[in-house]
Amino acid sequence: MISTEIERKVTDTKVRTMHAAQITAFRSPIQVDEVPVAAPRADGAVVRVEASGVCRSDWHFWNQDLEWIGLNLKLPANPGHEVGGVVEEVGRDVRTIKVGDRVTIPFHEADGTCPECRAGFQNLCDHSIAPGIQRGGGWAQYITVTAADLNCIPLPEGVDSLSAAALGCRYMTAYRAVTDRGRVQPGQWLAVQGCGGVGLSAVQIAAASNALVVAVDVDDRKLAKARDEGAAATINALGLTPVQVGEAVKDATGGGAHVSLDALGRGFTFHQSIHSLRKRGRHVQVGNHLAGGRGQVAIPVDLLTMMEWEIVGSLGNPHPKYAELLQLVAHQKLRPARLVTREIALNEVTDTLERMTRFDTIGFEVITRFA
Ligand SMILES: [Zn+2]
Ligand SMILES: [Zn+2]
Repeated sequence: MISTEIERKVTDTKVRTMHAAQITAFRSPIQVDEVPVAAPRADGAVVRVEASGVCRSDWHFWNQDLEWIGLNLKLPANPGHEVGGVVEEVGRDVRTIKVGDRVTIPFHEADGTCPECRAGFQNLCDHSIAPGIQRGGGWAQYITVTAADLNCIPLPEGVDSLSAAALGCRYMTAYRAVTDRGRVQPGQWLAVQGCGGVGLSAVQIAAASNALVVAVDVDDRKLAKARDEGAAATINALGLTPVQVGEAVKDATGGGAHVSLDALGRGFTFHQSIHSLRKRGRHVQVGNHLAGGRGQVAIPVDLLTMMEWEIVGSLGNPHPKYAELLQLVAHQKLRPARLVTREIALNEVTDTLERMTRFDTIGFEVITRFA
């Protein structure tokens, strides 16, 4: 039985190809090509992708925005880093992950051995590997994973592949930003600046933990979705200066947010965020900036001092934190799949990216048809 299994896998590996959606030129239509399925490393695995999200980070890579921080995308590139699927093949050194396991994969694969990993912060691994950037990603029928025992995160009963893809990046990022980095407490006000995927996730997560949320965006459809996900108040920031947005948040919250999250990543959302804070408030930066600004924003340091504000960053979600997140999803305390507004085919990604350019997508769009 075991030798038959190995023979089958070896034979399959020799002949196996897959459909993969590739960036062949920046800001140009995505091409679906037939490409070989990479063999797993000795410590790695191959996962059959059942659901794969289209994230604003992918949009940033497609726009060549992140090269200045060293995230160089070599073309052709196969993006995608929000995955739910089934383990198809494992390398010879893999111990705990088995063929047939249903898994998700953090967008920050870790080595498990560096000081950050050993301290429990695999999201900050010194040798982090980003699927879809340093190697093939999830906009494909199969994805390879490194250090599979660490980076394949088994899904409990009750968490399907669509939910796994939905929590693969933006939702788990929002989970850490709200709970660990923001430390939002029940009864406190959280301001969410920007109601894209991360923002709506943050609204849902904070509302589920009995925080009060004021959601800010310029699109009434996204604010309506934020109310559906539990926002207690919404502000349409169209035509308002960052200081005026801050005043509106202070009106809505009786003095300002305890925590404010920049879920978009522009100078104006950063400033909206800090001006929304009450004294001793905490700003959490999650959104990435565009290439042109190179992540630079002006900080009013006198206010920082006088108000005793904190400014913190948040990246992904450490591997050990998945256990609690997945339990909350399995028991429907958190519902990432509610934020999936459209399921698409592999050859429809360009349309999604172009609508993201116009900020015309709501929540998550997830590839579920790969043939
Ligand atoms: Zn590491
Ligand atoms: Zn992402």
